[in-house]
Amino acid sequence: MSEVSLSAGRTADLGLIGFAGLGNMGWPMAANLVAAGCRVKVFDARLDQARRFAAETGCTAASSAIGLADSDILVTMLPNGAIVREFLTAPDAGGATLAGALGPGAVVVDMSSSRPTGTRELGAILAAHDVALVDAPVSGGTPRARNATLAVMTGGGAAVAARLEPMFRLMASSITHCGGLGSGHAMKALNNYVSAAGLVAACEALRIAQGFGIDGRKAIDVLNASTGRNNSTELKLAQQVLNQAYSSGFSLGLMRKDIDAAIELAGDVGVGLLIGREVLSAWENGERTLGPGADHTAIARMISAPGGDRA
Ligand code: NAD
Repeated sequence: MSEVSLSAGRTADLGLIGFAGLGNMGWPMAANLVAAGCRVKVFDARLDQARRFAAETGCTAASSAIGLADSDILVTMLPNGAIVREFLTAPDAGGATLAGALGPGAVVVDMSSSRPTGTRELGAILAAHDVALVDAPVSGGTPRARNATLAVMTGGGAAVAARLEPMFRLMASSITHCGGLGSGHAMKALNNYVSAAGLVAACEALRIAQGFGIDGRKAIDVLNASTGRNNSTELKLAQQVLNQAYSSGFSLGLMRKDIDAAIELAGDVGVGLLIGREVLSAWENGERTLGPGADHTAIARMISAPGGDRA
């Protein structure tokens, strides 16, 4: 790949950035790269989505995965790690794979929330093609994706991760290198486990307070002025739950996937859990009842209202 200069931090030095996955997160992230002057070529399984993005932002769109083979940096922002692997390794009609077609020295940057063990396996597959892999999942949701203030957590070789910093800075305000390959994905799963547990506890507290006759708005204000405050009490209870908007742009199925990965990781490293399996089972029930495409804040609907009815 062309040299990525951390000191210069110039977008031209990044070379051609291929960007796969233009959904709720990928679209605003890729748009920020284009707006900063990067050379970007996009792809999405929904070809119309990629064409619309290219037309709106003024970059180019590939019509197949292999069309991103000339990328110096290939960013994936896809639903999960299994899809990322398939995207890179599935042969096309002519038997070619994107992993094999990328130039030696290219870097794949998986910004999706993928399972850390699968990331290590993918790293070995790509290394055989002289392609490096860095995991760089993000936190902050669609508002912070739009504002380029995401938190990025990276895993993989420290030197290659550092060389990617100029690109991350165009999408994020916090970049932490967590360790070897998969460490970023591990921290992302663990972060969302904490976030998911906090959201359920916050929703339960809100319902209980209402059942006791306390005004919901006042209950949220008290939590936010007190030690129970968390990201969900601050940004989800009033904005998504109390008004039943359920429109944060992060789906319930994707959240369940992340909790699953965190619990699997606990088993892999041999840590016994107090509440982890119960949290996972609450989200599995939510996904079964509400569907994977429901907004993750709709998990509140699984908590019965005072008297037993669900909201
Ligand atoms: P999304 O479902 O909105 O978008 C995924 C995109 O990938 C879609 O445009 C889809 O068409 C495309 N896609 C699916 N399979 C493909 C394939 N094989 N080839 C090419 N394109 C394909 O998902 P999202 O909310 O943007 O999330 C993307 C990733 O980011 C997930 O791993 C998610 O867990 C993570 N994430 C999401 C949020 C959020 O708030 N939405 C926040 C942080 C991290």
